[in-house]
Amino acid sequence: MIRRKPIIAGNWKMNNTMEEAEKLVAHLLGLIEKRDREVVICPSFVCLSRTAELLKDHDVALGAQNMHYEDNGAFTGEVSPLFLKEVGVTYVILGHSERRHIFGEKDDLINKKVKATLKHDMNPIVCVGETLEERESNVTFEIIKNQVYGSLAGLEKEKMGKLVIAYEPVWAIGTGKTATKEDANEVIGYIRKLLAEKFGKEAGDKTRILYGGSVKPANIKELMDMEEIDGALVGGASLKAVEFSEIANYDI
Ligand code: PGA
Repeated sequence: MIRRKPIIAGNWKMNNTMEEAEKLVAHLLGLIEKRDREVVICPSFVCLSRTAELLKDHDVALGAQNMHYEDNGAFTGEVSPLFLKEVGVTYVILGHSERRHIFGEKDDLINKKVKATLKHDMNPIVCVGETLEERESNVTFEIIKNQVYGSLAGLEKEKMGKLVIAYEPVWAIGTGKTATKEDANEVIGYIRKLLAEKFGKEAGDKTRILYGGSVKPANIKELMDMEEIDGALVGGASLKAVEFSEIANYDI
């Protein structure tokens, strides 16, 4: 069996003032046990540099929730990869379903961001997932294929080692409805197959693919026991130190 180092990432979304972020991080750092896995927290842009200070000397990585693909220039309101790099970001969530559905991000834009993240030696966490309507119309696999191939088009094989994918069915995000572990495992296995077809067997075997959508302490273990699932992208439960630490500390 191929071993991939698990990742548990917390996506705070548009939550936590600076004061709340400081309290949450301090509490969390006292609870996280160091194990053979990576733990990542993704605060808002505004809280990144303060969070980076608090994480110094701790084994928890810093992630951002979005990024622009150009280094600088006339892009009012956007955040450059250089700014993220400078504050110590190592992971960048891209193409989250809220970016896709609320802000209209499409695969070609996400693709440019993925390439920029890799160019700057950070790890993109590329999110893909079907809506409820798509699942019910039996087009899940087609949707996933388009998103995976579209967002990863033209990626160089040598850079694949940094790539992380998150399968997040849209209907499971923030709804309390988790995909069954079998369904999540099946789609993630399919993504792995797509990677192998496009980028070679090694990319399929080595790329870490996370599940996201209502992950909580009660379901992390059964998800992580599945062969294809390499970790979790956690939204709501990452806002509570005790809950997130219980997820991050799950027993192997
Ligand atoms: P959730 O969010 O855990 O609150 O369902 C997951 C996500 O959006 O990444």
